[in-house]
Amino acid sequence: MNGLMMDFPLTLSAIFRRAESIFRRQEIVWRNADRSISRYTCADFAARARRLAAVLLDLGVARGDRVATLAWNHGPHLEAYFGIPLMGAVLHTLNLRLHPDELAYIVNHADDRAILVDESLLPLWEQVKPKVNVPIVIVIGATKPVADGYLEYEALIAKAQPALDLPDPDERAAAAMCYTTGTTGNPKGVMYSHRALTLHTFGLLLDAGMGLRENDTVLPVVPMFHANAWGMPFGAIMVGAKFVMPGPYLDPASLVDLFIRERVTLTGGVPTIWMGVLQYLDANPGKFDLSLIRAMYVGGSAVPQALIEAFEKRYGLRILHAWGMTELAPLGTVSHLPPALDDASDAVKFAYRAKQGRPSPFVEIRARGEDGLVPWDGKTMGELEVRGPWVASSYYNRDDAADRFTDDGWFRTGDIATIDEDATIQIQDRSKDLIKSGGEWISSVALECALMGHPAVAEAAVIPVTSAKWIERPLAAVVLKPGASATPQELKAFLAPQFAKFWLPDDYAFVAAIPRTSAGKFKKSELRDQFKDYQAAE
Ligand code: AMP
Repeated sequence: MNGLMMDFPLTLSAIFRRAESIFRRQEIVWRNADRSISRYTCADFAARARRLAAVLLDLGVARGDRVATLAWNHGPHLEAYFGIPLMGAVLHTLNLRLHPDELAYIVNHADDRAILVDESLLPLWEQVKPKVNVPIVIVIGATKPVADGYLEYEALIAKAQPALDLPDPDERAAAAMCYTTGTTGNPKGVMYSHRALTLHTFGLLLDAGMGLRENDTVLPVVPMFHANAWGMPFGAIMVGAKFVMPGPYLDPASLVDLFIRERVTLTGGVPTIWMGVLQYLDANPGKFDLSLIRAMYVGGSAVPQALIEAFEKRYGLRILHAWGMTELAPLGTVSHLPPALDDASDAVKFAYRAKQGRPSPFVEIRARGEDGLVPWDGKTMGELEVRGPWVASSYYNRDDAADRFTDDGWFRTGDIATIDEDATIQIQDRSKDLIKSGGEWISSVALECALMGHPAVAEAAVIPVTSAKWIERPLAAVVLKPGASATPQELKAFLAPQFAKFWLPDDYAFVAAIPRTSAGKFKKSELRDQFKDYQAAE
């Protein structure tokens, strides 16, 4: 017996129509490349997104074609987020921090038909262009006439009539795609369906997710070219929140200025962004009032407990730790304090919040060790596997990566985690970063997060180095704060109360900077290369 309900497709088009009809006066704001601020209403945004859909149809872009963006977070990028899927094409966000060769590989692999590129990023595009074949190039934010062969976004939008009668795509059709740039092998494309992004948006809007509300002002610091800016653009538009985008200015001063000026209440970004903001606030005591911010979501790499405590104790700002992946659109878990801990001590609460949290509804988890699935005891490490309606089922045209999916339909994340009795996960490492010392696992992430709680330490990354006796031992690469000093002995003594003795690094390297990936995470592969001939102290 089937249910007798409508088979109503779950599409971004429906999210868009809702905003267009209900939240017409809501404001959308962004910072331009020349630092000026632009703002318009949701009605303006919707009309322009429909014009973009018409422009693309006019240029011969067909349903299913990939349309790339190479752009910062701003209004036209938001128009692309909806205008492209609205006419049935696939929004393909390109990471502007990648090397031109890597971008060329991605553009060719995705076979992009058109690209929307910021004027300020044309020098990067010019390096990619000779290696690819993209017939339609549209320049956003042009301040001077565009070169031959290029089209200009504003001129096209001005000429077009909004496309009104677009048929809704099939909910299983691709709406967007994003390449994940792991540290090994070529980037892999994740192809999001309308259905996956719509359900992900519902998950994001729950209080157990990021809890966006209509009376919020949402500012994603996380770039719109990285994992759909964590779904915040879709969430804010669906719920009718005011939406603010920082453009290319992600430095602490510009962000704090925008937070205050636009009365931001909810934001999200990677830990390095918030470390910078914290240092900026500390350097300007009493100068800024950020009390309207009710939630700062932080993910992309593990958040040191010291960062959560510092923001809360010094500025009353609440960091919420989330774990996700491009392959999960990206939301997997969020660390909201469970009610059972309401009366726990501050120390227990902070320690809990430094974990990655419990899975969103419909995201199912398990972890596998060498001897099969591991118990949920908060101690046994295993590779995290997930499944759910917004989890990739395969990579785009990459049969060689089929081993990332299990035979019974789970995605192997490559993250090593422990799972508590109540399903709270704690990410211990990427599988390739885990340190195996004398046959026992050591979590580099746990050591790094603890080291970053030392008052003299600005940043720390822990990697395995060769040891004659133990095969591998941890080495801590440490960046000291300006003017601060610490000895290896002091750092080891600082860690000692928190870890088993065999976890404690004997080897410390004081470095000027930790290499970073395009997403601002520590690039441990490069650090491992630097220390590949290093022999651990015995
Ligand atoms: P990406 O697909 O670029 O977003 O990277 C996903 C990877 O980032 C995950 O597989 C994790 O290794 C890491 N990651 C994301 N969020 C967290 C977090 N909260 N704590 C630790 N690692 C994280």
